[in-house]
Amino acid sequence: MSAALLSDLIAYLDASPSHWHATLSSASRLHAAGFTELQLDCAWSDIPDKGFVVRGAALVGWSRAKNAAAPAPVRIVGAHTDSPGPRVKPRPDAGGYGWKQLSVEVYGGALLNSWLDRDLGVAGQVITRDGVQHIAVREALARIPQLAIHLDRDVNERGLILDKHSHLTPVWGVGTPAAGEFNAWVAQQAEVKASDIVAWDLCLFDVTPASRLGVDGELLAAGRLDNQLSCWAATSALCASATPTEGTAVIALFDHEEVGSESAAGAAGPLLEHVLERLALASGATRNDYLTQLAASTCISSDNAHSVHPNYPERHEAGHRPVVNQGPAIKLNHNQRYATTASGSAMLQRVFHAADVPWQLFVSRNNMPCGTTIGPMTATRLGIETVDVGVPQLSMHSARELCGTKDPVWLQQALTTYLVGGY
Ligand code: ZN
Repeated sequence: MSAALLSDLIAYLDASPSHWHATLSSASRLHAAGFTELQLDCAWSDIPDKGFVVRGAALVGWSRAKNAAAPAPVRIVGAHTDSPGPRVKPRPDAGGYGWKQLSVEVYGGALLNSWLDRDLGVAGQVITRDGVQHIAVREALARIPQLAIHLDRDVNERGLILDKHSHLTPVWGVGTPAAGEFNAWVAQQAEVKASDIVAWDLCLFDVTPASRLGVDGELLAAGRLDNQLSCWAATSALCASATPTEGTAVIALFDHEEVGSESAAGAAGPLLEHVLERLALASGATRNDYLTQLAASTCISSDNAHSVHPNYPERHEAGHRPVVNQGPAIKLNHNQRYATTASGSAMLQRVFHAADVPWQLFVSRNNMPCGTTIGPMTATRLGIETVDVGVPQLSMHSARELCGTKDPVWLQQALTTYLVGGY
């Protein structure tokens, strides 16, 4: 069971080199489990008990208990599909001095040094005159070469200083750069005419597949663990809990978390709220019923946590430092960087207990503010009880991150118990 889930996570990560592909990976798993896709721009009348919608690189899926009463509470698992890294600009052909380069924009708070000297592929969405395509080219196309130590003698003492604009432009060939060359390459990959390409959202990614490592194979290294790991766990849990015992189970995988969530596909937008309202109204509920439902509903915001780092143990507070493979961590921050309340924490502890899954606590040091998640955003928009949880990992926002092999499985099991209900 655990081994199958871990293999499934690895397959999900390898199939999802971009946020677009994470959305596709979740959609295809839901399809295979009998979920029906609805369109947001169509009227909803006959709503399937198991369904989902996609908006950009965001997905909301649901599964309703048979004969669920209209205002029955909703249990939501939230996560995000996006990860920091370089995105290819619309007119990327650049270079000089005998090199062909690609202009990129750095998306989100990437650990810039981690992108140096990696073999990079290209993946994402291409808009053509006829429609939309997704490409994932896993052969190495580009590389951001680090300056040799002979030309940067005190780099180890001074620390590596990278200018986002000047120092992160990858090389992708030699010769004289020519306008339209990258467009022509994309056209070849998408098997369309170069003149048919209108726009794209293309990410660079490390082509190294996800892999287990460590003396006992207990660690997992991959790109985009933050937060495709949670997207996988949420999707897998929704498929596994296809018939909830009560109310409605929902997953919401948002885009743009890494840049503040304020977009049509982000957690600060109305996507989830609109889907929940449409589900309620289409099944005969009044607005009063809908607001009653929200007041009784809960949300688990799942996003990876920071494991204590053995080389930097002082960066954690001694009483609340999670370790890999000791269970998902409940994340608390009274300043509302995380949404967890005491009663939310108690609810989640009941879930962990019912799922027979170990868990930990994370609270950051007062002098080291933590990141945030979609948790506070969802709590603010919907007014529902929200709790933040996540698998502990190292190297967050690196091109290649590291977590344990047990925690993702435990997270999936806990989320399944939560979505089924009755814990
Ligand atoms: Zn995250």
